[in-house]
Amino acid sequence: MYARRMDHLPPYLFARIDDMKDEKLRQGVDVIDLGVGDPDLPTPPHIVEALCTAARDPKNHHYPSYAGMLAYREAVAEWYQGRFGVRLDPKEEVLALIGSKEGIAHIAEAFVNPGEVVLAADPGYPVYKTSALFAEGRVHELPIRADDDFLPVLDDIPADVVRQAKLIFINYPNNPTAAVAPISFFEEVVEFAREHDIIVVHDNAYSEITFDGYRAPSFLEADGAMEVGIEMHSLSKTYNMTGWRVGMACGNPDIIAGLGRVKTNVDSGAFNAIQHAAITALTGPQDSVARACSIYQERRDVLVSGLSDIGFDVQAPKATFYVWAPVDDCMAFAAQLLDQAGIVATPGVGFGRNGEGFVRFAITRSIERIAEAVDRMRGLDL
Ligand SMILES: *Cc1c(COP(=O)(O)O)cnc(C)c1O
Repeated sequence: MYARRMDHLPPYLFARIDDMKDEKLRQGVDVIDLGVGDPDLPTPPHIVEALCTAARDPKNHHYPSYAGMLAYREAVAEWYQGRFGVRLDPKEEVLALIGSKEGIAHIAEAFVNPGEVVLAADPGYPVYKTSALFAEGRVHELPIRADDDFLPVLDDIPADVVRQAKLIFINYPNNPTAAVAPISFFEEVVEFAREHDIIVVHDNAYSEITFDGYRAPSFLEADGAMEVGIEMHSLSKTYNMTGWRVGMACGNPDIIAGLGRVKTNVDSGAFNAIQHAAITALTGPQDSVARACSIYQERRDVLVSGLSDIGFDVQAPKATFYVWAPVDDCMAFAAQLLDQAGIVATPGVGFGRNGEGFVRFAITRSIERIAEAVDRMRGLDL
């Protein structure tokens, strides 16, 4: 019944973990779920208020414009200028997305011909591979390893693969490894893309979730980035708005136009009331973002010091709400953790074969629950 491409969709291993978790819940176990990459903190009230006000206005009840309201795109441009010093033309260089996942899933349709290569990190956010698959492109996995600070080694990509490559996905601060990239890495990617005529799509979903004074750059800050690529961004992680489905693609106008053309044929834009609320988020007070980061940072410290005590070789990440911890066999570890301690963590192979040897803990639970998880792990023979 299903098309052959469905067989190649990334294995949804999370479903198996979910089944195991549900079974534990049925047994009455007090499960601590450190699996989900979804903030537990609420959307700041002033943003919710802005939505309510906008939702009551019948003007907002019609089909939105495909590219997004100009006022929203202007707010995005202003935010990029203030936050990254990157100048964007709101009309040509900014596109509203129904969450950045949507833009990522659609981008390959616009640029990748059947059989052309899409370069995607492994482990990585699964949607990069999905995007390539729907365009009938071929994925070439770029292994990212602890020894290389979880940055792909571009020189390791075979020459014939590079020749057939049309698009590369990168993502720093990174999910799932929590690694960050220096601007020099982005500059290296720009050089590589220029030399081989490859489109760069940087996914910057976690740029605002940073710790210890670290400031994550935009890919568009790199010299020449606007010529070769775009950046997908999102309000999801910054403002605890994962359920709202609003994001943006920014950068090279031709690439933005290509993505826009695909979207025009698929969706009809993000609800205007949500775009109004997003304007409020981007242009209003930002103290909630700093507060969220300090909450995550405290949680990170509890988890990382706890895991270190127990004997894990973990680093405190500078960004994201994940801790990427080395283990022997990730599936066996995750199963044991759930079975014996009622803790959900995501096995690294869920993000690609090179994720073997790691589990991802999401610190999207209260500090008390994270401390409790550490206590439970202490009692185990891990
Ligand atoms: C959460 C996440 C996104 C998607 O966020 P949206 O809610 O679709 O904007 C994109 N990339 C990565 C790496 C993520 O973790």
